[in-house]
Amino acid sequence: MIDPHVHTRDWDQSEKETMRHALSVASLGGFSTLFDMPNTSPPLTFPHLISKRLEEGLLITKELEREKGVEMHYCVYGGLTSDPSQIETLVTLYRHLFPHLIGFKLFAGHSTGNMGVTTVHLLREVYGALKRSHYKGVLAVHCEDESLIRNDLFTLENPISHTIARPKEAEISSLEQQIALCKETSFEGTLHICHISTKEAIEMVNYHKGRGMNITCGATPHHALLDESLMETQGLLAKMNPPLRSKEDCEAVFNGLIDGSIDWIESDHAPHTIEDKLNGASGIPGFGGTLTLIRRLRESGVEEEHLDSLLGNRVNEVYHTDFPVMVPSNLSIDEVVGRIIGEYPFTIF
Ligand SMILES: [Zn+2]
Repeated sequence: MIDPHVHTRDWDQSEKETMRHALSVASLGGFSTLFDMPNTSPPLTFPHLISKRLEEGLLITKELEREKGVEMHYCVYGGLTSDPSQIETLVTLYRHLFPHLIGFKLFAGHSTGNMGVTTVHLLREVYGALKRSHYKGVLAVHCEDESLIRNDLFTLENPISHTIARPKEAEISSLEQQIALCKETSFEGTLHICHISTKEAIEMVNYHKGRGMNITCGATPHHALLDESLMETQGLLAKMNPPLRSKEDCEAVFNGLIDGSIDWIESDHAPHTIEDKLNGASGIPGFGGTLTLIRRLRESGVEEEHLDSLLGNRVNEVYHTDFPVMVPSNLSIDEVVGRIIGEYPFTIF
């Protein structure tokens, strides 16, 4: 399987996880390929850091093959800033390093790592630079409109306040902006909406997809299976960006995976230490969640062919890659899921 959205941390955040650990645990769960996000510390916004990261990833995958006999593939997204010359440089690098440099990530609102390009004016610069560079690959966007995020409403004492501080309107508004900017600048690549979490956003993506736009969206196991009421029992452990939503939105995500309006599953694997979680860090480990979701989709009657699409075939199609896709049986999932969850300090599933 391919997990096209993970945060393997490492470097200055190796206390949260290392690339080696993430790749090793993922291989145990039946994943063949990870696409790592660029909000590392330091972030993957410069060519030398992207190359360094890829060299380390390649070394680790070779070691895993030698030691455990597993074939793993490691790719990264380059992180876009609002500086047009940075974007042009990364597009040139992309042409040399694809598929190892698999595409670009744009944070339209600040999340972990504060890489947000947060105004329409600056976002327009990004789309303009991509257009001038004739970029035709995937632009994966974290859609939360910063102007609608109210960090002042969140308190550690009342974790569920996170869902009010980052309301669903922020996702919907940001999605509208990305679509408008794609059209305005005649963006030639594929706009991918990461971790879609609201009914309205799913409908909007499908409206434009149905009219020929190159737009895709992915969903996480937590947005498909869990709703915001979980924050009452799990508190800060269930904090992530975008936050868990209402029951209605959660059902829309689950059903979107079944009816094909959501293109694929992306775990948004984002581990933290317990201490970081209790200090309000956003993100949760994701590989165990994906395995749980596979079981739940099978229980809902989803065919194996559709699971193959959700867990890699559609990613290969959109990214023009050919990474191995084999979805584990329920029996294999039963064997490993406990061990995988146990590799991390907490789980909310
Ligand atoms: Zn993420």
